[in-house]
Amino acid sequence: PDIAALSEDRVHMHVSGADVAKPCISFAHFGFDDALLDSIIKYGYSEPTGIQKQAVPVALSGRDIIGIAKTGKLVNENKNFVILVLFIRILDDQLVVVYLGSGKTAAFIWPMLVHIMDQGELDKGEGSIGLILAPTRELANQIYIEAKKFAKSYSLRVAAVYGGASKMDQFKELRSGGVEILVGTPGRLIDMVKMKATNFRRVSFLVLDEADRMFDLGFEPQVRSICDNLRPDRQTLLFSATFPKKVERLAREVTVEPVRISIGNVGQ
Ligand code: ADP
Ligand code: MG
Repeated sequence: PDIAALSEDRVHMHVSGADVAKPCISFAHFGFDDALLDSIIKYGYSEPTGIQKQAVPVALSGRDIIGIAKTGKLVNENKNFVILVLFIRILDDQLVVVYLGSGKTAAFIWPMLVHIMDQGELDKGEGSIGLILAPTRELANQIYIEAKKFAKSYSLRVAAVYGGASKMDQFKELRSGGVEILVGTPGRLIDMVKMKATNFRRVSFLVLDEADRMFDLGFEPQVRSICDNLRPDRQTLLFSATFPKKVERLAREVTVEPVRISIGNVGQ
């Protein structure tokens, strides 16, 4: 589906910050190597989405990002309630309405992969280099799946940890050789560090996805505690569908000279 064209034409984007990298209009302009480009093409992505065009070059330039954009929900024809429609098609005489989201996950996964590959020799036994905080088990899993798709090109390992599943299984998975990318809900990530299943010493690329939902679910103390224990020279990307004062305060504390990218009508 050509969601890139749709999101580009219909969704307004606003960018602020000093010395911001210019947007790239195609995958070829990102400077990705063949391994990553081939897998992007293999998955049928023909053009970067609006947020990818702007956020990827900014992230590749090493800058922190505050991204404000609505999040996607897949809605099939059996549901009659649709929050926001980006894509409509007729399939077998049935009207199928799908909101596909704006492609934020790949917008942070691709630069994270480039960042990890730039670190040179990877010691497989250590903690992750990329860390992604997500509010729920479902979102952590979606990110895990998207990350795995592209991490395969480099044989990098990805793991997801979240509540409601066996701590012991997650502990064993993390201890069985280490991962370069770790996705998790804040509480379970802290549990894993306490159990010495992993550590945050090597984390130099941090993503906070759906930051507003993490606040709504009461994870602010855990999110802060994790950020306080990370290397201050890390790169940080924070994404949120809404941007209330408390999220703005956190965003200001955990990022350094961020580029702010907002997409669509987010009440700003
Ligand atoms: P959100 O911005 O809501 O987090 P997601 O990152 O979950 O959106 O992406 C929504 C869907 O779009 C995913 O299934 C993803 O694989 C797909 N997608 C991402 N980027 C592209 C692209 N450039 N072209 C086509 N599909 C894409
Ligand atoms: Mg998302």
